[in-house]
Order: sequence, then C-alpha cells, then structure tokens
Amino acid sequence: MERERRLEEWDKRYLWHPFTQMKDYEAQEPLIVERAEGVYLVDINGRRYIDGVSSLWVNVHGHRHPSIDRAVREQLERVAHSTLLGLSNPPAIELAKRLVEIAPEGLTRVFYSDNGATAVEVALKMAFQYWQHKGERQRTCFISFENAYHGDTLGAVSVGGIDLFHRIFSPLLFPTYRVKAPYCYRCPEGLRYPGCGLACLRALEETLKRHHRECAALIIEPVVQGAAGMIVHPAGFLRRVRELCTEYGVLMIADEVATGFGRTGRMFACEHEGVTPDLMCVAKGITGGYLPLAATLTTEEIYEAFLGEYHEFKTFFHGHTYTGNPLACAAACANLEVFEKERTLERMATKVELLAERLKEFWSLPHVGDVRQKGFMVGVELVADRKTKEPFPPQMKVGQKVILEARRQGVVIRPLGDVIVLMPPLAIPEGELERLVEIVYHAIEKVTATI
Ligand SMILES: *Cc1c(COP(=O)(O)O)cnc(C)c1O
Repeated sequence: MERERRLEEWDKRYLWHPFTQMKDYEAQEPLIVERAEGVYLVDINGRRYIDGVSSLWVNVHGHRHPSIDRAVREQLERVAHSTLLGLSNPPAIELAKRLVEIAPEGLTRVFYSDNGATAVEVALKMAFQYWQHKGERQRTCFISFENAYHGDTLGAVSVGGIDLFHRIFSPLLFPTYRVKAPYCYRCPEGLRYPGCGLACLRALEETLKRHHRECAALIIEPVVQGAAGMIVHPAGFLRRVRELCTEYGVLMIADEVATGFGRTGRMFACEHEGVTPDLMCVAKGITGGYLPLAATLTTEEIYEAFLGEYHEFKTFFHGHTYTGNPLACAAACANLEVFEKERTLERMATKVELLAERLKEFWSLPHVGDVRQKGFMVGVELVADRKTKEPFPPQMKVGQKVILEARRQGVVIRPLGDVIVLMPPLAIPEGELERLVEIVYHAIEKVTATI
C-alpha cells in the first residue's frame, strides 16, 4: 500500500483525536499535515492550505521561522531537558526575565508549567494557598463566568462555564460562584451597549458583596471569551472587574492563554484596559506555536506569602516533570525576540483594519447573525434566522460543513459550534489575509445558500 493511504488508515485505526466525534472523523478523508512554511500547511498529498486558526491559536510568526528554528536547534546542541525542581537552566531564566519585562506592571514572578490548563491549575492553587498562609482559611471558593473556558483538567473545568463541554463532569467538580458574562449579541439583560451602563456587572457585584469573604479569587478571560465563540466584552468591563476585585479583596486571575502574545492587537489583552491582575496565565502563543509551554505570573505580594522556614511547609507543592523545559523556553525567547525585531505588533495594526474592512462584507450573507473581532480574533456567528437570532439545529452541522468547504478551497479553520473562527498567525501577509477571508466568505455563502 502506498504510504499516504497507509497513514490515513492507521490514523483512523490507532488514534483518538481530541474534541472530535470519531464516528464523523472515521467517515471523512483525514487531513494529515506533513510540513508547513510561513502561513501554509502542507498535507501528505502535497496540497497547501492557509493556516486560518494558527494551528489552534498558537502560531505567531508563521511556521518554520528561521530565528525560532535556529534557537531550538542551538538549544538541542546543549541540552533538551533538565529539571527545574531545585535546579535551573539559562533559557528558563532568560525567558522569566523577558516575561516580567513585557507583562503588565506589578507581575514579577514566573512559575512554569506545560499547557494552558495547568497554568490555570497553578493559578487556582496559588490563590488558594496564599489565603491559607494569610490566615484567611475560609477563602476556599472561586468566582467564574458563564461561558468561560479555562482548559480541560478538573480544576480548570470547575471554573469553566460551557455546558456542552463541562456539564457531564459536574459531579467531579468543586463548586464555584458562576456569574453572568457579557454577550452583547445575546445580551442576558436584553440591553444595548453603551446605554446599558454595563448592567451585566451587577451579578458580579452582588456575588462579591455577599460572598467575598469565602472567595480566594475570580478568574476571567480578559476582553475576549475565546472558546465560548470569540465573544468580545464591551469596553470598560475588565477594568470594572479589576476595581471590584480590589474593592472586595478578592484576587483576580487573568487567563491570557488565548489572548496573550499579540492576538488582540496588544501583547496582552489586559493592556487594553490598563489592568494588572494578581495572577496571569499564559500558554498557547508563548513559544510562537513551537512547543508546549505555559507560565503563571504573579506579584511579589503573593510570592512572599510562600516564604518561610523549611519546617513551616509554606512551599508551593506543585510542579510538572517538564516544568521550564529548556527547548520550549529557548523557542519562547526567540519568539519574543522576533516580536521586537520584526515589530510584529506595530505591523499588525494595518492588517487588523484591513480585516475589519473585509469582515463588513459578511453582513450581506443572510445567515450571518453577528461578526465579532478583536485584533486577530474573529468569530462569525451563523444563525438560522437573523431576526430572531435562532441558532441552527446541531444536527445540521452548519459550522462543520463550512470548514470542510473552506478546506476544499485551501483554508484550514476550526469552528466553535456554528461560530466560524478566524485567527491567523500575526505575521500573515496581506495577500494571504485577503484570500483567507474571501475563501471563508464563499464557504459560508455556498453552505448556507442551500439551507
Ligand atoms: C486553550 C485555552 C486554555 C487551555 O489551554 P491548553 O493548552 O489547551 O490546556 C485555557 N484557557 C483559555 C482561555 C484557552 O483558550
């Protein structure tokens, strides 16, 4: 059997893909990526596709960027892995310094892990233990938002709010106070911004007023709730959340796993509102999409609460075997250097405007209910009826059909239900950006025309 057919057969026979209904997957022709260059993925049959969601929100400067390739290769010549439990290594040290330099002012300490969910677990446990050391042992609860996504480990699922992913596991989870999050297209209060005066904050304020003494921390995806469907929060919301946390003495955890490293047009989404959280989780884009790595940043105040004599056992007893992996940290250092050298964020600004301009055209498609954009994070919500905002029945698999049509036309994207997501690498050239948008437009047009 030729190699390509063999790989396709083995893929279906031996693999179990994440977040994938394997019954559907087994019935489809798989796309097996063999290599990539710039913003293009190349499959085993030599077909090329624009990487429209940055290989699941991670790629930044394109694939096989010479500087990041070189940094990983050079690190390979030294050491691939050594532990951070009690030892250290140069890339981990240098990266920690760089992260503190670019993070919102006041975040001064870096704790590594290896993916977004673990960065969140670390933040939750740190916040919890902080209060134990401070003598406020009753602070055992967390505040989270509806529609939130913080990863798939059980702590992260406990503070998650997407019923479709999370409800089945509810007997395994710790309880949290879940409050309303803004979703202007389907406003839970039935109001409109800015006339609403951010009425959606009332639920949070009420919860804080009643329960703040039991709460260790609040966790939020700043500015954009990604997995919920690229829901962009109204201006002022995040800042007010920060103020309320301060007012009621509850720590604020910002989950920048999706929004970090330029995705919203600024290095971190918190910058849009001049906010410094008490803990900040980063992952996805940290290595430019090269290797798994994550970090939880925090303040000196929290760090110092863990200092003590050995026998007091104030140590933060948490770590992962590959914590601070030198190869991943070397990739991350190179990623940040490229940001500077290529002035990635500055050069992105005109492309963000171009994207906004092009996205306006989507309103001419009758089944487009909402078009949301913050920087390079885009969600196009498809609905059965624009007037009533009624969604399509899930059996119709509209989002799935649209991405398969886009794939036939040379674009790889992945939807969130019937929200079509675009999140190209920040370095995408204008020509490819236009092509990406055009193909997605035609894919939506074609699939929804026959409905
Ligand atoms: C993707 C994501 C996570 C989880 O990251 P993993 O690396 O997949 O564990 C957590 N929070 C947010 C906001 C995310 O988008």
